[in-house]
Amino acid sequence: MDKISIRNLEVFGHHGVYPEENVLGQKFLVDAELYMDTRAAGKSDRLADSVSYGDVCSMIRDEMTRQNDKLLERACERLARAILLAWPVFHELEITVKKPWAPVLMHLDYAAVTIRRGWHRVYVGAGSNMGDRQAYLDMAKKALMEDEEIRDFQSARIIETEPYGYVDQDKFLNTVYTFDTLYTPEELLTLLQSIENQAGRTREIHWGPRTLDLDLLLYDHLVTEDPRLVLPHPEVHKRLFVLESLCELYPYGLHPVTNERFCDIKKRLEKE
Ligand code: ATP
Ligand code: CA
Ligand code: CA
Repeated sequence: MDKISIRNLEVFGHHGVYPEENVLGQKFLVDAELYMDTRAAGKSDRLADSVSYGDVCSMIRDEMTRQNDKLLERACERLARAILLAWPVFHELEITVKKPWAPVLMHLDYAAVTIRRGWHRVYVGAGSNMGDRQAYLDMAKKALMEDEEIRDFQSARIIETEPYGYVDQDKFLNTVYTFDTLYTPEELLTLLQSIENQAGRTREIHWGPRTLDLDLLLYDHLVTEDPRLVLPHPEVHKRLFVLESLCELYPYGLHPVTNERFCDIKKRLEKE
């Protein structure tokens, strides 16, 4: 991916753990590596096809002076978030904040923190088979769409499906959502669970009736082994009702473990 770089932008700020630092202030140097596709700007030579790095520098100064943080980690986090939300063309970025006058009573060039942040594409399976099923799905969609750290939200059609696993229960409404997010996988799972809780979700029977179930199916091409959050969702390639909606949004996507296209997995399951 192409990138725009800003190196050693000098800002006077008041960040630090010591009260003296918050009063006297000191020099900070900021680096930003901003990943975007510069092809269109490279061909057109028009600023409208790119981003003015002067504007990015002003935002960095504003964010660095807007509030005093104890930690460089927090200053980095705020800068990354502000830039990613302000310029949708940056898919990913790296921010370094350096403190050349760090009060350690020894000479150093600087102490610094570097973070990499960006947008991640995710697929979420949604289901409901209790109460006003449509209203629960609408509520989930609204909560996700209105979240600042979620963008480019799209939903597959809602389909009615037979219960899976524990079959002695009512039919489900199911769908799949896809969007870009700044949340980490763990943060997103916590958000999904809090939306389930708002819908009055209780956990009595495994695979039993529920007002709302939100499963994290895919997070970029990430593969995890932790049972608290398995990615891709361990059942995604076994459930036709999930593949039905997933294939509407992402037919040629590859399952990150089996490397098979979702449309091919679906065709195979339909034959079995
Ligand atoms: P299934 O996950 O087979 O569809 P379920 O949705 O009925 O079953 P829940 O009771 O909603 O299961 O979730 C059980 C646990 O699964 C959660 O507490 C969560 O920590 C864990 N989990 C692991 N991987 C995922 C994932 N990718 N998405 C959602 N939950 C997950
Ligand atoms: Ca589920
Ligand atoms: Ca679940």
